[in-house]
Amino acid sequence: MRKQQRIGIMGGTFDPIHYGHLVTAEEALVQFNLDSVVFMPTGRPVRKTHRVVTPAEDRYLMTVIATASNPDFSVSRMEIDRPGPTYTVDTMLQLRETLGANAELYFITGADAVWEILTWKDTERLRDTCTFIAATRPGYDLGKFREEGLAEGLELEFMEVPALAISSTDIRARVMQRRPIRYLLPEAVASYIAKNRLYKDGDDGAA
Ligand code: NAP
Repeated sequence: MRKQQRIGIMGGTFDPIHYGHLVTAEEALVQFNLDSVVFMPTGRPVRKTHRVVTPAEDRYLMTVIATASNPDFSVSRMEIDRPGPTYTVDTMLQLRETLGANAELYFITGADAVWEILTWKDTERLRDTCTFIAATRPGYDLGKFREEGLAEGLELEFMEVPALAISSTDIRARVMQRRPIRYLLPEAVASYIAKNRLYKDGDDGAA
């Protein structure tokens, strides 16, 4: 019988990708005994109306550059190529259909984003497609999840990742303010940002 594949799907806007994301993916790979992690840059985030999100193609390329040296990591264009606003439920249903019953899926992302996904539409359909891994910074208050999420019997796991002190919002602000970003993200991603003059001209709304 063919072995059931355990695949992590690392969802994020990755604007830009940084070491916090890479450490999260590696930690999930080991902690949950995954066979591989597929990074899934969001195409058109549904709720980011307060700031201009960097073009999907730039975010995709930065994610490819950042993950290229790790044979357990890959990057999918699924959300980038799908027209319309990006909903996680559509992605997970599409993956379920493609991979069939032969894969166990783990959706990995930041805890606040998991909360948002699970309190949005279609939670019913979503819950059977995967286990959620919510990455948090140390000290994150899990109260709201304990009260509601777990009580509803979701497959939900938490993972504390100290490296998530690094944030994309801070990196964008640093570029705009001409402050250093070295050692917060792979050097090749920093070069891509500089070469393509990303984040230089403001609009550093949070998240
Ligand atoms: P976000 O709200 O910008 O991020 C919330 C927090 O989680 C931030 O601190 C963020 O840090 C962190 N984070 C984001 N992705 C992460 C990852 N893969 N690993 C660890 N921490 C992460 O979240 P987002 O980037 O827009 O969305 C995250 C995922 O949730 C995406 O796949 C998105 O499509 C999905 N989502 C779906 C729905 C929906 O279907 N209705 C709604 C919201 C989000 P950084 O800013 O440093 O990344």
